[in-house]
Amino acid sequence: MRPADATCGRFAPSTTGEAHPGTLLAALLAWLDVRHRGGRIVLRLEDLDHTRCRADHATRMIDDLAWFGLDWDQTVDQSTLRAGHEAALDALAAAGRLYPCACTRADRAGGRRAPDGGWAYPNTCRDRPLPAGGWRAVSEAVRVRLDDDRVDLVDEGGLDLSQTPALEMGDPVVKRRDGVLAYQLVVVVDDGAGGVDRVVRGRDIAPSTATQVLLQRLLGLPRPTYRHHFLLLEPRGGKHAKLHGSVGAAALRGRHDAAALCGILAHAAGLIDRVEPCRPADLVAGFTWDRVTRADRVATWTDHLEISP
Ligand code: GLU
Repeated sequence: MRPADATCGRFAPSTTGEAHPGTLLAALLAWLDVRHRGGRIVLRLEDLDHTRCRADHATRMIDDLAWFGLDWDQTVDQSTLRAGHEAALDALAAAGRLYPCACTRADRAGGRRAPDGGWAYPNTCRDRPLPAGGWRAVSEAVRVRLDDDRVDLVDEGGLDLSQTPALEMGDPVVKRRDGVLAYQLVVVVDDGAGGVDRVVRGRDIAPSTATQVLLQRLLGLPRPTYRHHFLLLEPRGGKHAKLHGSVGAAALRGRHDAAALCGILAHAAGLIDRVEPCRPADLVAGFTWDRVTRADRVATWTDHLEISP
C-alpha cells in the first residue's frame, strides 16, 4: 500500500482513437514522474464525448498501455464520475456563474486570436440568465463566467503559462450544445476529487492551464503542480503537426516489441543514451526531468518508427 499522502498523478487519454506513439510517450512520462517519487498514478479514460469516444478504444487503450509496460493504481472511466461533474455545475450555477450561449465559431472568427491558436470567445452572452430549469434545461452551450483576473503561472519546467484567461481565451464552455460536459470543467473536477497533485501532460494543453486554475479557484479545489512536456510531431505537408493517428498501436505492436518501442521513445525523450530495448520499470530509478528534452521531436513511420535526434 502506498501512503495516503503519497504523490498522485494521472494519465488521462481521450478514448477517441487508438494509442499512437505520442500517447505512449505522454503515458510514459506521466508514469515515470510519479513512480520515481513512489506515488500513485491513475489511468483516467476520458470518454465523455459520445460523438468521438468508443468503448472499444478504451479497452484497447488499457491493453496497449499494459503491453507497453505501464501499470496503474486505479483505472477509471470518466463517465462514471458524472455525479461530481453535476455537483460542480450546480455549485457554479448557485454562485451565479453559468450562462447560456448560442454563439458559433463563425461569430468568433476574425476576433482575437487565443493562445491555443483558436479564436477567443469575447464573452458576448455573459449577461444572459439561465432558464428556470437551470443549466440542465439549456439546449445551447453553457459557459462559466470567469473572474477577469490575470493568472501568474510558471509550470515546473519553467514554461510561462501566465494569462488573463477571461480575455485571452474567453469564458470556457462547460456544457456543450450536444449535452457533453466539457473538458475544461471535468478535468479540474476529476483531478480535484482524485487528489491529483501532479499533472504531467503534453505542451499542446498548456494554453488551457490558466483557465483551469481559475476554475479550481471557483470550485475551491487545490492547484496541482503542472509540468508540460515536449511533443512528438509528424512531418505533414511541409510543416510539423502533432503526431496523431498516423500510426496506431496495432501497427506499432506488429513491428516492434514493447521493449524495443520503449527504447525508441525513452531515447527520443533523452532518458537513455542509445536506442536499446528497455522497460518502463527499468527507467524509474534513474528518472529525472533534467534529462528530458525540451525540444519537440519529429517521428516518421515507414514500416517502423523512427524519431529524429
Ligand atoms: N483527455 C485529454 C487529452 O487526451 C487530457 C488532457 C489532460 O491531460 O489534461 O488530451
